Amino acid sequence: MRDETLFFGDQLAAILRALPDPAFVLTRSGRYIAIFGGIDTRYYHDGAGLIGKCVHDVLAPDKADWFLQEVEHALHSHGLHIVEYSLAACDVQGLESEGPGQRLWFEGRIQVLDFAVAGEDAVLWVASNITARKELEVQLRMQSEIDALSGLLNRRKLLQVLAEHYDTFERYGTPLTALVFDIDHFKRVNDAHGHLAGDAVLQTTAEVCRRELRSTDAPARLGGDEFVVLMPHTSGEQAAPIAERLRQRVAEALQALGSIGAGVTISGGLAGFAAGDARGEDVLKRADDALYQAKRAGRNRICGMR
Ligand code: GH3
Ligand code: MG
Repeated sequence: MRDETLFFGDQLAAILRALPDPAFVLTRSGRYIAIFGGIDTRYYHDGAGLIGKCVHDVLAPDKADWFLQEVEHALHSHGLHIVEYSLAACDVQGLESEGPGQRLWFEGRIQVLDFAVAGEDAVLWVASNITARKELEVQLRMQSEIDALSGLLNRRKLLQVLAEHYDTFERYGTPLTALVFDIDHFKRVNDAHGHLAGDAVLQTTAEVCRRELRSTDAPARLGGDEFVVLMPHTSGEQAAPIAERLRQRVAEALQALGSIGAGVTISGGLAGFAAGDARGEDVLKRADDALYQAKRAGRNRICGMR
């Protein structure tokens, strides 16, 4: 063992080198002056090659500008400034090749240094790899917004999207038409072929929605055999042929499933935002009423807004 008091300087250097996350000394103009820690290549690339360079030498212009802006922010705030960002090794020129291959998420914890470095104000920027947490966050968000069986938006997310469109409608009068549709006699599919066959019918229906609709149309499964398609910027006149085509395509795709989907159809109801609506969900109530009419009129049809 070395004597602690004699070798404190070395030990201090060793401690800085052992910092779990890389800590950069970065000047106001974006020059990398020093890097400490972050030596585990399972989590980090060696950033030693960055020393002496500027963010604009090693990053794309917009990313480099963002780093400078956050340094400036930290210098003004005087407290700890925390940011999140993503980078892949290929985004940064001059990094060692050894290190994680995928795009990484970082939390930057930026603290102002109270002395000038190379004649400039400077910060200590600790870049912690938070990729695992971020991926979990993405997964949890997806689970909270996506219906597991169909892969479409779930009720919660649908209502959120609808509320956003309603705000736009209230402010600018931008139209939106909603189609609510439901599989006809779906109970019979379950009864005759079992629940798994019923699930396959729901999944095929969802697949047709994804294939046939515009990416801005938000198809959702509200639950059971009930689906909603929001068609923003679309009047009832424009929506009617889209809904009709969807009805036909779903019937065709279910027919192609063989005995479990043979003769299975959908009924739908259309409605649009209207003056006097107090909230987004009012449109779903009217579309639901139109769906009820379609069922009463013999199913396998779309009612409303004609
Ligand atoms: P209608 O033509 O009036 O719509 O008749 P229907 O038989 O389709 O009646 P309804 O829409 O009320 O029935 C929905 C059925 O959907 C009831 C339920 O057993 C079934 N169901 C609900 N969720 C699921 C699911 O996740 N998977 C399967 N396979 N069936 C489900
Ligand atoms: Mg049904």
